[in-house]
Amino acid sequence: MTVTSNRAYNFNAGPSALPLEVLQKAQAELVDFKETGMSVMELSHRSATFEAVHNEAIARLRKLYDIPENYEVLFLQGGASLQFTMIPMNFLAQDQKASYIQTGAWSEKAFKEAKFFGTPVEAASTKANNYKNIPTVEEIQVEQNAAYVHLTSNNTIFGTQWKTFPTTGDVPLIADMSSDILSKKVDISNFAMIYAGAQKNLGPSGVTVVIIRKDFLEKANPNIPTMLKYDTHVANNSLYNTPPTFGIYMLGEVLKWVEEQGGVDTIEKRNEEKAKLIYDAIDQSNGFYYGHATEDSRSLMNITFRVADEALEKKFLAEAKEAGFVGLNGHRSVGGCRASAYNSVPVETCQALADFMVKFQQDNQ
Ligand code: PMP
Repeated sequence: MTVTSNRAYNFNAGPSALPLEVLQKAQAELVDFKETGMSVMELSHRSATFEAVHNEAIARLRKLYDIPENYEVLFLQGGASLQFTMIPMNFLAQDQKASYIQTGAWSEKAFKEAKFFGTPVEAASTKANNYKNIPTVEEIQVEQNAAYVHLTSNNTIFGTQWKTFPTTGDVPLIADMSSDILSKKVDISNFAMIYAGAQKNLGPSGVTVVIIRKDFLEKANPNIPTMLKYDTHVANNSLYNTPPTFGIYMLGEVLKWVEEQGGVDTIEKRNEEKAKLIYDAIDQSNGFYYGHATEDSRSLMNITFRVADEALEKKFLAEAKEAGFVGLNGHRSVGGCRASAYNSVPVETCQALADFMVKFQQDNQ
């Protein structure tokens, strides 16, 4: 049995669409993985078969994302939200400051956790502008001797994305890339650490990817609980305790799919093309639709927009749902509409939404 029909136009913000080919492959090998007579879920995480899955996923990510040798790649649990805590727990001493660039709700959550350990300081914030934009380089003020600078590369809720990252000199730069990891080429060497929950661009929920520079790891506080220490997971190749084995297997398959598509360059071009289809529908609507983000800060991953007439907006969302579009309601804190067009969302799905938007406008103007 294969699942080919009835696939939704899935614009969920996360967990979100996965490539159909990956789902079908997982389905085909679900009950007998590599002639073991077991599902990958039933294998011991200490078995050679699972270790190969695990190590291949790490190697694939290293190659695809061009991760230099002096970085560790970890698969952790607890989501990006636990990283909000682990980062200051490991790297921010009580008498130290860390600079946080505030570009949305997730940045705020990261900031809040840092207060339990040391002193987070706002390096810039676009909150006064309802997080419609990313701050300019001139607006960013990094604390002298800050333990690190933290930023959110893509703001899932507000639909903004950094186009170029700030250079922070000797101060280590940490990025939450939960909603745009592997969506475009990034110079990893600009960062001391990158982290992301897998459930948007990399696979199902349950795995958190951490990419961390070895010399930065040396600065970590050794006197913290075992499971919350990066060193524990580095020393054990992320197999200190039972990992989310099925999630790691799926992540590996998604990475294989990215390779088959032609790698990150191809994915990046496709993401630009996909987002353009929807932004064009907004920009060419003469104000019938309008975007939340300022143009220079627009996200290629989360396209946030409103229908100018509020009653029509309700109608738009209801009719879109009826037409098979899923996940278009904006986050409850922003309202309006949001189309999340992560790596695995096909061009055709974005084209269908753009066509629907144009048609809806024609029918309701
Ligand atoms: N950071 C960003 C940018 C996110 O979009 C999310 C989840 N939507 C999180 C952090 C929290 O991730 P998790 O649910 O994996 O803890």
